Amino acid sequence: MKMNRRGFIKLAATGAVATAFGGLGISLAPVAVHAEGLAIDKATLTTSVCCYCAVGCGLLVWTDPATGRTINIEGNPDHPTNEGTLCPKGSSIWQTTEQSQRITKVLYRAPRGDKWEEKSWDWALPRIARKIKDTRDASFEAVNDKGQPVNRTRAMASVGSAAIDNEEGWLLQAMHRSLGLVYLESHARI
Ligand code: SF4
Repeated sequence: MKMNRRGFIKLAATGAVATAFGGLGISLAPVAVHAEGLAIDKATLTTSVCCYCAVGCGLLVWTDPATGRTINIEGNPDHPTNEGTLCPKGSSIWQTTEQSQRITKVLYRAPRGDKWEEKSWDWALPRIARKIKDTRDASFEAVNDKGQPVNRTRAMASVGSAAIDNEEGWLLQAMHRSLGLVYLESHARI
């Protein structure tokens, strides 16, 4: 009988596998009890892709329907790339949303300052946009030393992000290149 891991767990929960293996003297009762008692039993299941590197391993993501919070993430056994496995980095991906120490507010340290101040996004976003525009305008090179068109700025660089998906990564790169940035890197590669 051909069966994937998810199918096995489901079947184990019904006791059918336990009965089948019982004839071999192997008890799967603990497996069935564990599967029935999983906290993710009533959760919403969604498939996704690991955001950390270009391998693109498939994920199963369980969320609490009441709160929308992520309960558990593990490798998708039906995904052709990873067949249920995850590397150590991917195995900790749950922390990208649920890590209690994750910074969710803007922290600003003034030039030569020695402490962080909490700021609002309404304060931060226009300031970031202004600085990008001013820096780009002051440093923009339409041509290089040989007179060849380059349309670039070498006064800014971008690092990021290993916590965004492929589509977001494409949008980020497109925005940066439209500004003329040439120093682009993702910390997933570093
Ligand atoms: S970081 Fe690991 S789990 Fe994530 S896509 Fe890359 S190899 Fe797969």
